[in-house]
Amino acid sequence: TDASIDLRDYIRDVPDFPKPGILFRDITPLLKSPAAMSAVIDRLAAPFEGQNIEVVAAAEARGFIFAAPLAIRLNAAFVPIRKPGKLPFASHSLTYELEYGTDTVQMHVDGVAPMQRVLVLDDLLATGGTVDACCQLLEKCDAEIVGCAFVINLKGLGGEQRLKKYPLHSLLTYE
Ligand code: IMP
Repeated sequence: TDASIDLRDYIRDVPDFPKPGILFRDITPLLKSPAAMSAVIDRLAAPFEGQNIEVVAAAEARGFIFAAPLAIRLNAAFVPIRKPGKLPFASHSLTYELEYGTDTVQMHVDGVAPMQRVLVLDDLLATGGTVDACCQLLEKCDAEIVGCAFVINLKGLGGEQRLKKYPLHSLLTYE
């Protein structure tokens, strides 16, 4: 695909969403462009080709959009990680701390097998809380985290520090 595609041209900045003071990075323009999406999947996959990735795991909802085509590209399984009560089959859960209160993520008990090599994907890295929870859930199931990949890395919110034990790969960085 086109190496000249600048993915920044496909991210829309929306001020004050979902609350005043937040600058939201909106990926929907990217989703409208097959050329840009192809470039995203190529570029997400590149460092992991030949690394024997067996599973691409992602948190709902925007992570799913990229994880499914990436899994096909890497000849790996796609495994969804979801909010409580969404998955139909027996599931493992992990509860993690938020600024106020807690949150829980779930994955089917047959999502990963022990020692399977997993790439964790999300659209965007901010504090790292979401992907950290996914990694903890996967590790509870004895999976091996090969790396974490993101379309966007929002620097300065602590995500890289929080995920420092894993190799990180992101396509676009915002300071
Ligand atoms: P974290 O858990 O603090 O790293 O936040 C990352 C999660 O929040 C991801 O699942 C994103 O989809 C979502 N998120 C946070 N900020 C944005 C944004 O500006 N645009 C799109 N998604 C965001």
